[in-house]
Formats: sequence, structure tokens, C-alpha cells
Amino acid sequence: MSLLKKDKEFVWHPFTQVKTELPPLPIISGKDAWLFAEDGKKYLDVNSSWWTTLHGHSNQYIAEKIYGQALKLDHVIFAGATHPKAVELAERICKILPNHFTKVFFSDNGSTSVEVALKMVFQYWHNQNLPKKRILALEGAYHGDTFGAMSVGQRGHFNQPFEHLFFEVDFLPFPDGTNDAEILKQAEALFKTNEFAGFIFEPLVQGAAGMRIYSAAILEKLIACAKKYNVLTIADEVMTGFYRTGTCFAIEKIQSEVDIICLSKGLTGGVMPLGLTVANQKIFDAFLHEEKTKALLHGHSFTGNPLSCAAACASLDLLEEAKPLEQIKMISACHQEFCKTNNENKKFTSVKSLGTILSIEIATDATANYFNSIRDVAYNYFIEKGFLIRPLGNVVFVNPPYSITEDELKSVYDVILDFVDSIK
Ligand code: PMP
Repeated sequence: MSLLKKDKEFVWHPFTQVKTELPPLPIISGKDAWLFAEDGKKYLDVNSSWWTTLHGHSNQYIAEKIYGQALKLDHVIFAGATHPKAVELAERICKILPNHFTKVFFSDNGSTSVEVALKMVFQYWHNQNLPKKRILALEGAYHGDTFGAMSVGQRGHFNQPFEHLFFEVDFLPFPDGTNDAEILKQAEALFKTNEFAGFIFEPLVQGAAGMRIYSAAILEKLIACAKKYNVLTIADEVMTGFYRTGTCFAIEKIQSEVDIICLSKGLTGGVMPLGLTVANQKIFDAFLHEEKTKALLHGHSFTGNPLSCAAACASLDLLEEAKPLEQIKMISACHQEFCKTNNENKKFTSVKSLGTILSIEIATDATANYFNSIRDVAYNYFIEKGFLIRPLGNVVFVNPPYSITEDELKSVYDVILDFVDSIK
């Protein structure tokens, strides 16, 4: 029986309306920026498989480190036990982050890293008997699909069936460059109530909203304002972490210190599931107490999994080498050049890049959103040509594995330009 037939019989895919969508790609192997299908076709993985793959697929160095770890210690409960790879990873992450981060909490994915951050923030105030319970987020935010993460995300089609279960969150308008003063005024008015426990944001780029890039200057001011009113700040770097915005972390582009950072996706080079919630000492200290109930009573079976930690340490080894950093510079420069050349292109409403992320909004008559019909036309066009590009509505974006070659990258730009030429 073919892979697709069995898949259809037994598998329920994420984000997929099975009734109307094409069958999935039957991918049997991957190498560098390429994915290879059962039927002999190959696809350039332009969006790094849900923005995770950093060093290309089936990287030998990472694979060997995982194998070596599997032979030594596959897994161990992380409450009441520890192991060398988790400790190594925690220390290395604290060293590459701005130096006020001191404590690393492990989980399995981006959503759980956000859940943990939210729990840290709520319980930080709870442990001190202070009635700060409200959360501020940005319109258009996406922080994951679990209930806490959905609550702090943009409400809409994706989470409508569950909306009645979300906790209340205040949302600031997206900083589009025209409304900074107004946003700051709104934030200050809210923070002044002294009711706000935390402020969560995707620093500099909102991923799922359509790779929406915004300025470091307004984020800097919002964080400073939060600090002034004693509101804890959470930088969700699940997507932006590990050089997606050019610097290792987006928060390196701002001076104010955030309290908590969430990491996942590229953390393991995109090879193994892992989430980290990294906190400063002030947060950690608020959980130290004689009473057990003041501890962070949260954990998952696979917390601190040694194979995931080994993959993450191996990915960090690779990021310390010169080659990926040269590649990141090459990708960023090519993106900038594309933006310059296509700035006036009437087929695009906006063309922007930040680091290795290029975001192209295609001009369309229909109201632009994720379900925009151009999305499926574009997706199918690219697949047909051997490019795995998953547009977000009418936004086509490029965030490739760092192993992509300059020629491959140019071929991505060409296929995008060919596509817009092919539509009326
Ligand atoms: N936060 C951000 C900024 C994300 O982009 C994502 C995933 N796209 C998540 C959280 C959730 O991560 P995961 O899919 O691993 O749960």
C-alpha cells in the first residue's frame, strides 16, 4: 500500500481541511535545503519546515550527537534528577543570552514554552499576594495553540470554537510605524491601573500574522514603560531566535531588559522537539519558599529530554562556526537586495526583510487574511515548480535553512516573481 493511501486511512494532519485540501507530500528523505518525495520529486524547503530547520535537513553532525546520546542516556525523569546535556545546554543558553537571564525551564515546544512563561508571570504575583492578574499583548499575536497561548493570541477563525474559555487579555494595536505615540499612550494608561501582571510580544516580527516586521524603537519604549509600572515582560522568540532576525536573538536589538524569553523551533536546529523558558533571577527567587505550593508545579514527561538537549547543544556548536554566520549574512544581503529591486513593484503591497526573513505582501482585491484564496493558488503553483512555500494568506515569505546556496535563493525569488506575473 502506498504511503499516501495509508496516510489517508490513519493520519489526522494539523491545520488541514482534509475534505478540500490536496493530499500531503509523501516526503521520504531530506538533505540540506531539500526534501525528497516518494515519487522522485524534490522540493526546496523555503520556510524551513515550519520555521525550524537551521542547518539543513539530516545534518550529519547533529544526527551523530543524537545517536551518541541515545546510546548513553535516552531519557530520565527531570524532577528530582538531572543530566549533563541539560546542564550544558542551560549554561550555554544563559551565556549566549543577555547576561541577566539566569534560570532555564525545559518543555517540549513553542506553545508550552509560552504556557510556562505565563504561569511564571501569574504565579510570580500570586506568590507575593499581589493582585496583578491582567496581561497585555499585541493585536495579530500568535503564541501557540494551547489554551494559555491561544488566550494571548489574536482572536479569530483559528480559535473561535474555544474563545469562551480564554482568559481576558488586553491588546494594543500593531505598531505599523504610524501609531507609536498612540500605542504608547494606551499602554501607559493600562499599566497605570497597576493591575497588569505581564506584557507578552513577538519581538520585531509577528510570525503567523504574516511575518509583520515592526521597529525596535517602539518595542524599546513599550518595555521601558512596562518596567516603569512593574509589569513583567515576556519576549516570545520561538520564531525569531537563533539568527532569524540577523542577530542571535531579536532582543539584542533593544537595550531594556526583558524578564522572560521563550525559545523553541531553531533551538535544536529544528531536529528535535524542545522548548525553553528562560527567566531572570528575580522571577526565580519569587518561587523559593518553605511552602511547596509556592514552587512552579508544572512539568511534562519529556521535560529536559537528553536527545533533544544533545541536538540543541550540537546546533549551538554549529552556530559557533564561521560558515552559518557567513550564510546568514549572505541570505540577509540577498533579501535586502530583493527589497531594493522590488520596492516599486506594483504587484506587491509591501516588501520587507529583517535578517534571514523576507516578507512579500501580494496586492490583491480580496480582503487580505490567512484564508485569502490567493494563498492556495500560490501554494499549489510553488509546489508544482518544486518549492515548498506556505504563504500566510497573501503574504509569501522566505525564511530558509541557513544551508541554502545563493543560487537556490535566487531561484526562490525567481519563482515568486514568476508567480506574481502569472496572476492577473
Ligand atoms: N510562538 C511563536 C512566535 C510561534 O511562531 C510559534 C509557532 N509558529 C509558537 C509560539 C508555537 O510553537 P509550537 O508550534 O512549537 O507550539
